[in-house]
Amino acid sequence: MKQLKNYINGQLVAPVAGQYIDNYNPATGEVFSLIPDSDEQDVELAVQAAQAAFPEWAKTPAEKRGQMLMRIADLIDQHHDRLAEAESVDNGKPLKLAKTVDIPRASSNMRFYGTAIQHFASEAHYMEGTEAINYTIRHPHGVAGCISPWNLPLYLFTWKIAPALAAGNCVVAKPSEVTPMTAYLLSELCQEAGLPAGVLNIVHGYGHKVGAAMVAHPKVPVISFTGGTATGRSIAATVAPMFKKLSLELGGKNPNIIFADCDFNNALHTSIHSSFANQGQICLCGSRIFIERPLYDKFRDAFVEKVKAMSVGDPLEDSTKQGAVVSEQHMQKVLSYIALAKEEGGTILTGGQQVQVEGRCAKGWFIAPTVIEGLPYNCRTNTEEIFGPVVTLTPFDTEEEVIQYANCTDYGLSATIWTQNLPRAHHVAHQVHSGIIWINTWLLRDLRTPFGGMKNSGVGREGGFEALRFFTEPQNVCVKL
Ligand code: NAD
Repeated sequence: MKQLKNYINGQLVAPVAGQYIDNYNPATGEVFSLIPDSDEQDVELAVQAAQAAFPEWAKTPAEKRGQMLMRIADLIDQHHDRLAEAESVDNGKPLKLAKTVDIPRASSNMRFYGTAIQHFASEAHYMEGTEAINYTIRHPHGVAGCISPWNLPLYLFTWKIAPALAAGNCVVAKPSEVTPMTAYLLSELCQEAGLPAGVLNIVHGYGHKVGAAMVAHPKVPVISFTGGTATGRSIAATVAPMFKKLSLELGGKNPNIIFADCDFNNALHTSIHSSFANQGQICLCGSRIFIERPLYDKFRDAFVEKVKAMSVGDPLEDSTKQGAVVSEQHMQKVLSYIALAKEEGGTILTGGQQVQVEGRCAKGWFIAPTVIEGLPYNCRTNTEEIFGPVVTLTPFDTEEEVIQYANCTDYGLSATIWTQNLPRAHHVAHQVHSGIIWINTWLLRDLRTPFGGMKNSGVGREGGFEALRFFTEPQNVCVKL
């Protein structure tokens, strides 16, 4: 059985304590590899390696750092099929999705920041009258800690480490212990690319051990975290008295608002994706669908018909639309929310149960895509993050009403609005408290834009120059002429 290793100081090494965690294939329910169960000793070694590599990496010209990221991007592309299969096996997502979304986006992230750093300029402010000039230098921080979740493993891992490295930091990174495989394969690619030892270190293991040790480490002054809101809250509590710089990308409970004048086919087709892509395990999925009353019955019937036709099964099969959810524990959590929806008075229109797949995947963790109606807009099912293939349908009558529905949760990550009335689209967009709004589309991403959530969905923004600003410390120098 494959035993993964940590990547520390340019070497693939076993965890100091020699302990391992079982890694499951969610589609078969079987253990297929072992992950280092690292602890603070491994984190210490990684931080020391990153500190030692920092002076040289920080003074490497941005163009050269960028070229190194591009070399890694090229290697990700060359190993596209192998990485996509590893991602699908580790996470349960359809191989097709890993091939078309996860892995291409991972190399795009590296390429985007490999070039962005060459266009990243600092400011100068000339003071008329007093004849002085201020210029701002942006220094890398030193060792950056990057912690990522399981839903888009390599995609979100690279989304953090690329800007951190491009800006001249050395990195200690921790992928999710639930989906470590592609981060491990990336460490092999970094060796092949000739990334200097210690510039990137990848430590595998549990959040409460490895993640907590990174967050509390006094020599890691900057933490970028993507994951659940409860974890983000505990990280914030640790780092606040240490005055660390912190970026938090957290959970969501996103509204998908459909007005009666929308382009029906487009709204219908895209809403299937925005509800169930990656088994609904994307922080940006629209899990609360609000439909203007005159369109409600037509949309509901067409939507449910399409959901019923979605094939659930072996993620490696080309025809599969819904793969496995990521773990047995997560499956139980999602099923418990479906039970809660029934208690709260919801009607299950389709789905609502575990799916038993035949053959190779007989012991896998599959859930039928589930559509629920008849729930109050502010019940627990409609306000808590489920993060699975479950959506609710709710009718509305007025703009004011749907804005109230959209804003009634503690989350504020993204929202989607479907209407052909553009003034209304803008008006509603400006009233909805979400960091990212899509009008007549979903998940259309321009990597230059600020990405992040309001309220309990996060603190700070990633993407574009925002991330390069986050991973650098500005210093103003004032010169009297
Ligand atoms: P999680 O919070 O359980 O884990 C995320 C990462 O944090 C993992 O690597 C985990 O090991 C680590 N971790 C856990 N406890 C820790 C601790 N005490 N200290 C430091 N690190 C710790 O989240 P998850 O279940 O892996 O991911 C799902 C969540 O992530 C959902 O809430 C989803 O909405 C969110 N998410 C948000 C975004 C975004 O961009 N806003 C993107 C993807 C996922």
